Amino acid sequence: MQRLSLDCCPDAGGAYVVALRIAAPVSVRLGKAAPVALAAGRYLYCGSAYGPGGLRARLGRHFRRDKSVRWHIDQLTTAGDVLGAWAVAQGDECELVRRLGFLHSPIAGFGASDCPDCRSHLLRWPQRIARTAITTALAAGAAGPLWLSGPANPSPPHAAASRDTSRPRPSPEAG
Ligand SMILES: [Zn+2]
Repeated sequence: MQRLSLDCCPDAGGAYVVALRIAAPVSVRLGKAAPVALAAGRYLYCGSAYGPGGLRARLGRHFRRDKSVRWHIDQLTTAGDVLGAWAVAQGDECELVRRLGFLHSPIAGFGASDCPDCRSHLLRWPQRIARTAITTALAAGAAGPLWLSGPANPSPPHAAASRDTSRPRPSPEAG
């Protein structure tokens, strides 16, 4: 399996999808509303970064557990394990949410306070859906996003049986 680290991430602006796993239910607060319990499992969060440092700076922040909770997603990246992220230079976060429209959004308004069209920017990523299926959905015929591996996390006990062990033949990357 090819692994790219955050060092390969462009420092240009763009959109991204962070993949994370939470091991136990997390109590999530959105503004003044009562906290909502988010079940354990895998989740995808769509965002964008067009400020200084672009995608690399933002994803670096998401990959760090030690930070103050500023955005909705910080409640999950500080409580769970960030598995990695897809980076889409010049991408649009709401477009990525649309491309992942086959996934369920567990908390209305999460990361989408300013969005007229999105129910949520947080989506549940069921175990039965492979990472390659997410990559394909995000590509949507355009140039595919880069998968960036997160900090080393303990592997789940069943990792050895996952489909990541069937390695595709390595193919040269186009420059
Ligand atoms: Zn949106």
